[in-house]
Amino acid sequence: MQRRIYLETYGCQMNVADSELMLGQLHRAGYERTEEAADADVILLNTCAIREHAEQRIYGRLGELTRHKVRRPGVLLGVAGCMAQHLKTRLLEKVPAVDLVVGPDGYRDLPALLDGARDEPTLAVRLSRDETYGDLAPARADGVRAWVSIMRGCDKFCAFCIVPFVRGRERSLPLEEVLRQVEHAGAEGFKEIVFLGQTVNAYRDGEDDFASLLRRADAVEGIARIRFTSPHPSDFTDRTLEALADCRKVMPHVHLPLQSGSNRVLDRMRRIYTIEEYEELVARLRAAVPGLALSTDIIVGFPGETEDDFEATRDAMRRVGYDSAFLFKYSPRPGARSAEWDDDVPDAEKTRRITILIEEQKQASLDRNAAVVGQDVEVLVEGPSKRNPEHWFGKCRRFKTTIFPRRNEAVGDLVTIRIAAASPYTLFGEGVPSSLRAMEDATP
Ligand code: SF4
Repeated sequence: MQRRIYLETYGCQMNVADSELMLGQLHRAGYERTEEAADADVILLNTCAIREHAEQRIYGRLGELTRHKVRRPGVLLGVAGCMAQHLKTRLLEKVPAVDLVVGPDGYRDLPALLDGARDEPTLAVRLSRDETYGDLAPARADGVRAWVSIMRGCDKFCAFCIVPFVRGRERSLPLEEVLRQVEHAGAEGFKEIVFLGQTVNAYRDGEDDFASLLRRADAVEGIARIRFTSPHPSDFTDRTLEALADCRKVMPHVHLPLQSGSNRVLDRMRRIYTIEEYEELVARLRAAVPGLALSTDIIVGFPGETEDDFEATRDAMRRVGYDSAFLFKYSPRPGARSAEWDDDVPDAEKTRRITILIEEQKQASLDRNAAVVGQDVEVLVEGPSKRNPEHWFGKCRRFKTTIFPRRNEAVGDLVTIRIAAASPYTLFGEGVPSSLRAMEDATP
């Protein structure tokens, strides 16, 4: 009888892509996916370790899922992803119901690992210097957007981050494998490709760099849009900027993590750029791609962050003018370099600082979105709005969520929408009643 796999994914898009990779491997080994943990022969959680509360949530979820093992003793419970790699045997010790702990470089052998875990608890957490899974076909979820991991791991070792320790050293997929995946996704009907990597623009395959990759992908038939996330500011070359300017399908949006606007903090974070270099890059990006939308990540309350440092971040955010920002309060991650330092900004102060940034960014996002009102934007239709099935939702070229009334469009169509109203998080096409706009707002 066919075995059934139930898989939950936590964390970033790299994990979403890894889950599709695991499902591809499991399908080939004869598993089918089930949406009900109660029906599953194997329950797998693909986990995140980026923040403490992410781990607490997984422990809670493992506790709940253990009941399926109690009811059906043959059920296997596995933990994959960054938390598995981070905790290793400690996870098996802490949750005895877990049968398999598999890190991000162990997915090629997943079916065999599961077979082994039927006999004894199994640990597969060896990091690889060369595993890219470039030759494996993922089982992609339905939709208009295909995630394609083009590189894995990270060599940057930012002080607050454990990614280099849980995902290993940086390595890129061969260019031809990436293009094969893009062509395959296009043939399957995906309209948009998102290239993924921890430092995606550090991509390199021999002589071919990220710029070559963008140019080659731009020529693939069937694909309408190309995006990428997340680039590192220090890895943007002139060649990549020229490719961004030239490639018609590469969308005018860059997520460019800043983390802090203070050089003192950037140095302690080991971000390897100064705020001056960052802002110069922003100017070059905007010159290369007129109308470019920018989003970012910011950490407040990093160890040693003074009021002056915080004000420097606040000023930098104002000067750059982001379309959106992911704002985080610093929390130490065991294993990261900064976890050895005194977490000396009190939580109440972190809250005060982040609240200021949230409010200021909200206004900045609103101002930038309001500037689009009255203009026509091209939207890729993703599906009916969750809040009102009479409306479609999709992303415009600059990656802003756009809601508009359904007519006779279909999912996957590119349509031109006249924007009638805007909130900090959403653009509304003509015909969305003002009474429904607040309800439709895609507040993060
Ligand atoms: S660049 Fe820094 S923050 Fe990003 S994954 Fe690498 S170490 Fe982590």
